[in-house]
Amino acid sequence: MELQTLKGLGENTAAKFAALGIHSVEDLLFYLPFRYQDRTRITPIQYLQHNEDAVIEGEILASGIKFGKRRTLIVTLQDTTGFIELQFYYFNKSQQEQLKPGVKLRCYGEPRVWKNKLLMIHPEYRCVSENTLSIVEETLTPVYPKTEGLSQTTFFKFTTQALAYLKKDDYSVELLPKPFREHYSLVDIKQAITYVHRPPPEAPQELLMEKLHPLQQRLAFEELLAHQVGLRQLRAKIQLHHATPLIEKSNLETTFLKALPFDLTQAQKKVWQEINEDLKLPHPMMRLVQGDVGSGKTVVAALAGLRAIENGFQAAIMAPTEILAEQHYQNFLQWFEPLGIKVVWLTGKLKTKVRKETLAIIENGEAQFIVGTHALFQKEVIFHQLSLVIIDEQHRFGVAQRQALREKGIEQNDYPHQLIMTATPIPRTLAMTVYADLETSIIDELPPGRIPIKTILINNQRRAEVIERVKIKCEQGGQAYWVCPLIETSETLQCETAEDTLAMLQKALPTLTIGMIHGRLKSDEKDRIMHSFKAKEIDVLVATTVIEVGVNVPNATLMIIENAERMGLAQLHQLRGRVGRGDKESHCVLLYQEPLSEIAKKRLTVMRESTDGFYIAQQDLELRGPGEVMGTRQTGIQRLRIADILRDRKLLPTVQKAAQVLLKDYPDVVEPLKHRWLGDNEILGNV
Ligand code: ADP
Ligand code: MG
Repeated sequence: MELQTLKGLGENTAAKFAALGIHSVEDLLFYLPFRYQDRTRITPIQYLQHNEDAVIEGEILASGIKFGKRRTLIVTLQDTTGFIELQFYYFNKSQQEQLKPGVKLRCYGEPRVWKNKLLMIHPEYRCVSENTLSIVEETLTPVYPKTEGLSQTTFFKFTTQALAYLKKDDYSVELLPKPFREHYSLVDIKQAITYVHRPPPEAPQELLMEKLHPLQQRLAFEELLAHQVGLRQLRAKIQLHHATPLIEKSNLETTFLKALPFDLTQAQKKVWQEINEDLKLPHPMMRLVQGDVGSGKTVVAALAGLRAIENGFQAAIMAPTEILAEQHYQNFLQWFEPLGIKVVWLTGKLKTKVRKETLAIIENGEAQFIVGTHALFQKEVIFHQLSLVIIDEQHRFGVAQRQALREKGIEQNDYPHQLIMTATPIPRTLAMTVYADLETSIIDELPPGRIPIKTILINNQRRAEVIERVKIKCEQGGQAYWVCPLIETSETLQCETAEDTLAMLQKALPTLTIGMIHGRLKSDEKDRIMHSFKAKEIDVLVATTVIEVGVNVPNATLMIIENAERMGLAQLHQLRGRVGRGDKESHCVLLYQEPLSEIAKKRLTVMRESTDGFYIAQQDLELRGPGEVMGTRQTGIQRLRIADILRDRKLLPTVQKAAQVLLKDYPDVVEPLKHRWLGDNEILGNV
């Protein structure tokens, strides 16, 4: 039904709705509140919580204008339990006159504490008279997401009308067939929609706030189903493409493996077999290899590379940073040159002449294995039968960048095979949802002989002892990383902290050479510093949390992480992976600042007890609850309206089965369902 059938909805408003992808009454009904405000009760001022929206009610004690940088109307409100200051930066004369001492107000807003004062900035407010005093909202107030200049009131008004249509018997929005709904115990969608827009007074508020109410879950199920169906279709579509099968043609593999100073682990062998089977098929491989830091993903990539090369094609590996690309280049040179394979590398910083030469031999096919950064998919790069694309540390690349590289490899309708590697493990059920378009392999074993990293938790107050420990380590010829606190709000502050730490350590450890690396440095500057650290010219490297992934400095066996309690498990695990790369025992010191929250305590304990990335990922999932989990942030599936893949992960196995059933038995439903939940947006694959 057309949106403009709603009363009072003019062209202007319609255009704004259109910008949100809302073109019809049905679209509006499925534009769901993303949270609720609790205006059902009045909170005594004394019990206000910092940053927690609340309704308060009291009498104005004083009001006046403060002249300063900014004219501010300040109103002091009191109830029987305390005071609060209301601040208004924008106000007019009549407001000023209205807000006079003695007037009773009911306000809704976010309380904050600033300089020991309790404030509310620009609360919504309403004057109340004696006889309305007891009235508050009866139901939770829905809050609609991103509203393109449309007020919440506008949303409320039009959704109210739309919900009235929904009540009519001849108006149907149910897409799922009855037997299907019965099988998965899904109640009628009308009931769910109505409830979510207008929860009744008796609704269990906590459940609703957490979106765990069965009727919300009904919608979440349908939304996840739409995504799952979309991802499956995408995967099927990719499998329709043709790729050149890569089969064993020579003894390159055997020669290579013989020359390695170690045997492959069982896990590496298993994953290589999985890749090998994919490559034999006339369809492009799309495989994600998950393997913890140091599990030896590069060797597996090399084997796949050799397979392409012995079939007469090119293979390329793309790394997220220059320094990782260089590390790969050195590695592959050492492995492949003795086999007579031409390895080249391409990064942004090559000199013009070298760059030209490199581009020329990539184009004429002389270059067989190409290592690079995102420079690989620039326009000037023309491959010569690229049949395998390897992407390292995939979470550092955007979907678009990965797609761009694949496009480069398409030749006469032949698609390149793709191997995607990540050290960011995500638990299996999530992987199946987030990466429904990829096959996944897991290297779940570290090469033998690794000495597990010992992790120690130390209170910040004992920092002097830690510095002493760094001193001893470096005097014995070791090296250390010192990771500065994470400051999410400001990169500038983060860099300043690094500078302060540098100064502090230089003062405390005058005999040692201390270096520093942070996000503000130019990339060649970062490279230079990492090189000197690798070359042992720097004893202690002060780093912010942006420290490069994957960089290998085996002699660095000590890592200090400051304010570890502020970091997530994923980040701590990634950081810690910088040590423990050699044959000496490594230590990781997690400095923490009291008081610790329950979650922080648990996280730190997990870190102390385990170095297993998959275990840590699982714990992360359990501790964190809704929100971001390792590596899922960049993926399209995060843009959900009501579902949350973490919170609703228990639904996932059923959703996966249901998606298969729907595609097979009810294909007619698929497009409308996708349209409802994905709207105009194409679902994005992960590659
Ligand atoms: P990641 O999976 O983190 O990318 P790498 O591929 O860089 O790990 O491997 C880490 C180190 O382990 C490298 O020095 C590599 O040569 C070594 N390595 C890889 N596989 C094995 C193995 N099976 N046995 C012993 N060492 C190995
Ligand atoms: Mg690696």
